[in-house]
Amino acid sequence: MTKNQDVKIAKSELKSTELGKYLLEKYTPKKDLVRKLAEYAKGIFTPNTLERVQLCGDFMQHLTTFDMSAKRVHRSNSCGNRFCPICTWSKAKKDAIMISVAMQAIREEKDQEYIFLTLTAPNVESVKLKNEIDRFNKAFKKLFDRRNVKRVVNGYIRKLEVTYNKERFITEEMYKRAKGYFDKRELDIGDNNPNYDTYHPHFHVIMAVNKSYFTSRDYINQSQWLDMWRECMDDFSITQVDIRKVRSSEKSENGAILEVAKYSAKGDELYHSQSIFEIFYRALKGRQLITFNGLFKDYIKKFKNGELDKYKKQDENEYTHLLTSVWQTSKYENTLRELTLEEMAEYNEKAKYIEEDEGVE
Ligand SMILES: [Zn+2]
Repeated sequence: MTKNQDVKIAKSELKSTELGKYLLEKYTPKKDLVRKLAEYAKGIFTPNTLERVQLCGDFMQHLTTFDMSAKRVHRSNSCGNRFCPICTWSKAKKDAIMISVAMQAIREEKDQEYIFLTLTAPNVESVKLKNEIDRFNKAFKKLFDRRNVKRVVNGYIRKLEVTYNKERFITEEMYKRAKGYFDKRELDIGDNNPNYDTYHPHFHVIMAVNKSYFTSRDYINQSQWLDMWRECMDDFSITQVDIRKVRSSEKSENGAILEVAKYSAKGDELYHSQSIFEIFYRALKGRQLITFNGLFKDYIKKFKNGELDKYKKQDENEYTHLLTSVWQTSKYENTLRELTLEEMAEYNEKAKYIEEDEGVE
């Protein structure tokens, strides 16, 4: 062995142990959540499903750049379960890219603009959660079947999200986020949280409208949306509907995309305890969590058929190495090797476009 080879091997060993860990730093906490899920789901999932979930992310291969500054998934054993922290994460990252590409194509080809709408209702207790989501679905259908809404909305993406209130007392962060809500009730940081142990289902919606909509006589203002949502829900205790135009700036658009692409339940809430997991599970299983309608339905189909490739962002990285990671009880063991020239050509061609949004946590 020449001295040069020696140095090279030493360097690659350093890379695979130190930098490999860094590259996978987001996976390790998710593997911990997989363990929690497997524990909570013991009496719920079939033994087969349970086994697949437990093995999820145990073996992964990533393509990496020479300086290990970028990576992308090459192969992994994923379980595909909709409650799995690794699989829902990877779906959210892919959905964010798919939605972003579809929005860009629709904007250019159909001359559309976007509105971001959030539909909420007062929180409910666990026993009511399932029915409450059914109520949301029915009310949403009613709302979008209204003539004045149908006339202006050319398509929508709807995401169901459920949050859980796990704080017994009002935290500083909660207070800051909803100051008006607590002020109105004369509540302060540290007081009992009136929503403790309640659930909050809500819809995030991106709607496509004609450019002329904003100045047309068919324009629907915020208070009209609120009135309609109250009528459709048959619930006049609803006090607000959040509606805003999605500006064409990257920040505004990404904000809306992340809301519809991300998880239907946050990890620290979904896996908070056995009983809370079961409540989420019963309320969400079998449901369509994300829905595409109208122009969005058409363009998601086009995206999947590869017809929107020209709108995708190119991945400028050149991948030179393959990082193989195997889960060992509590951490990943990594090994790194150089790609052969044939592999480099083939894998870089496959990795031509960016397919996952790394901004999704
Ligand atoms: Zn999985």
